Amino acid sequence: MPCRTYKTDVGVAMVCGPTLRPTIHCYECGKPGQFLCDGLREGKPCDRPICYQCRANRGKELDYCADCVKVFDEGMKVGQ
Ligand SMILES: [Zn+2]
Ligand SMILES: [Zn+2]
Repeated sequence: MPCRTYKTDVGVAMVCGPTLRPTIHCYECGKPGQFLCDGLREGKPCDRPICYQCRANRGKELDYCADCVKVFDEGMKVGQ
């Protein structure tokens, strides 16, 4: 099947097959992911794509990647 690559803000996405619409793939497992990390890394929005299984949900509409949720959880400990 023909494959095309797309450059995105978070890396290169590859799309194979007849669908040429770019699909966002989870940065962890490579499955299609429809969530973007809401965390901050080095003062910038993380925005890593994450799938339903890999996201760490912390409250309404807050989803974090594995790296950012560690930071988030550390921050919660400090605050206590
Ligand atoms: Zn995933
Ligand atoms: Zn993140």
